[in-house]
Amino acid sequence: MLQIKNLHASVEDKEILKGINLEVKAGEVHAIMGPNGAGKSTLSSVIAGNENFEVTEGEIILEGEDLADLAPEERAHKGIFLSFQYPVEIPGVSVTNFMKTAINESRKANGLEDMPANEMLKLIKEKAELLEIDRKFLSRSLNEGFSGGEKKRNEIFQMAMLNPKIAILDETDSGLDIDALRIVSNGVNKLKNENNAVVVITHYQRLLDYIVPDFVHVLHDGKIVKTGGKELALELEEKGYDWLK
Ligand code: ADP
Ligand code: MG
Ligand code: MG
Repeated sequence: MLQIKNLHASVEDKEILKGINLEVKAGEVHAIMGPNGAGKSTLSSVIAGNENFEVTEGEIILEGEDLADLAPEERAHKGIFLSFQYPVEIPGVSVTNFMKTAINESRKANGLEDMPANEMLKLIKEKAELLEIDRKFLSRSLNEGFSGGEKKRNEIFQMAMLNPKIAILDETDSGLDIDALRIVSNGVNKLKNENNAVVVITHYQRLLDYIVPDFVHVLHDGKIVKTGGKELALELEEKGYDWLK
C-alpha cells in the first residue's frame, strides 16, 4: 500500500531524514518510536506533503503511484490521513459542517458528485454511534475550546468519516491523558480493517498495549535503526533507546 524508499528530506539545508525505507501493507499496523528529535514528526509531515520540507532523494509510493508531485490536499484525496498536532480553531463552523465540506471536496477531487444529504446524515450518525460521540459534540464549533480529549475525538471522527487508506497518527511528545489514550485506541481499533493501514507515531509504549502493532520501528537520527514485532516496544520501555544508537 505504502512504500518509502531511501527517503531523504531536509529543512533549511539541514538533512533530517537520512534514508528511510518502510513498507506498509493493507491490514497492518506499524508503530514508529524513537527519541525526541529523531525525525518522527518530520517523516509524517513529508508523507503528507508538507512543503516546509524538501525531499532530496528517494520515493514515497502509494498504491504504485509516486506522490512526489502531489500537493498535501491531493495526497489526502488519495487516502492519506494525517492527524493534526495543532488543530486550528474555526469559530462558527461546526464539526458536522466541516466534515460535510471535507467529504464533498474529497469526492469532487475524485470525480464524484456531492454526497446526497440523507446519505451524509446516515454516515455521520453511523460513525458517531460507532465512536460514541454525542450529538451535542457534532454541533460545536470546530476545535473551539476543545479539551485534549475532545480534539482527539474530533480527529478520530474525521478519520472515520474520510475512511483513509492509510492513517498516520502522530501522538506528539506532549502526551495523551488516559481519556485521550482510550479515545484514540478504541477509535483506531474500530476503524482498522483489511483494506487500510495505520501508522502510529508514539513515545508511549502504553498506547501500544491498546493498539497492538504488527511492526515496531525505531527511528534514530533520521534512520530506522531497528524493526521488530510488538515485543520490541516492551524492550524499549525497559531499556530505553541508548543501546540502539
Ligand atoms: P520527533 O518528532 O522525532 O521528535 P522532529 O521530526 O520533530 O522529531 O524533528 C527532527 C529534527 O528536525 C529536530 O532536530 C528538529 O529540530 C528539526 N526540525 C523539525 N522541523 C523543523 C523546522 N521546521 N525547521 C528547522 N528544524 C526542524
Ligand atoms: Mg519531538
Ligand atoms: Mg514529533
